[in-house]
Amino acid sequence: FFIALEGGDGAGKSTQVEALADWIRAKGHEVVVTREPGATPVGKRLRSILLDVSSAGLSNRAEALLYAADRAEHVDSVVRPALERGAIVISDRYIDSSVAYQGAGRDLSPTEIARISRWATSGLVPHLTVLLDVDPETARERFTEAPDRLESEPPEFHARVRSGFLTLAAADSTRYLVVDAGQDPESITTVVRHRLDQLLP
Ligand code: C5P
Repeated sequence: FFIALEGGDGAGKSTQVEALADWIRAKGHEVVVTREPGATPVGKRLRSILLDVSSAGLSNRAEALLYAADRAEHVDSVVRPALERGAIVISDRYIDSSVAYQGAGRDLSPTEIARISRWATSGLVPHLTVLLDVDPETARERFTEAPDRLESEPPEFHARVRSGFLTLAAADSTRYLVVDAGQDPESITTVVRHRLDQLLP
């Protein structure tokens, strides 16, 4: 069973990933917590290229392909092997981040971005995608470290990313759960647990 958490920067994904992993483990399942970009040795190198402010000016298409390369490596070496042995995988970001950031954010075709990722992952789609939806201005107040290259993008960029995520979620209410991430973390976990209770084996 494969769960992806998506949302803008500062939406609280990593807090939720940890809370959900603890809860699922307590039910007796093996849980693999992972993330994009940067879950593999090569992915870590790609992550530093992608996020370092010194990569300012990286071409939009090169950026899209580097995220896709990170995802291909991630799926082949972490996600698919874990799913094959019956583990529950929770990924902090997956394909929808590319459609939202490199598609809606960078003004590339969301359809083309989705196609690149489908190829990169041989079509691996999560069973549940949780979108933590938050107003980018509220999210920005939660930043504790210096902003990375993407976080340094202007508010209009983050507004396009947010609507990119919401468009994806609106198209498939079976696979997506949209949660208001302006709520306190415990309330968010409760909403997600409720959905997972109906889905998990
Ligand atoms: O979620 P995390 O902070 O690890 O994401 C790293 C950065 O990469 C974030 O600033 C996010 O905006 C960006 N990102 C992106 N496109 C993706 C995935 C992440 O621009 N497909």
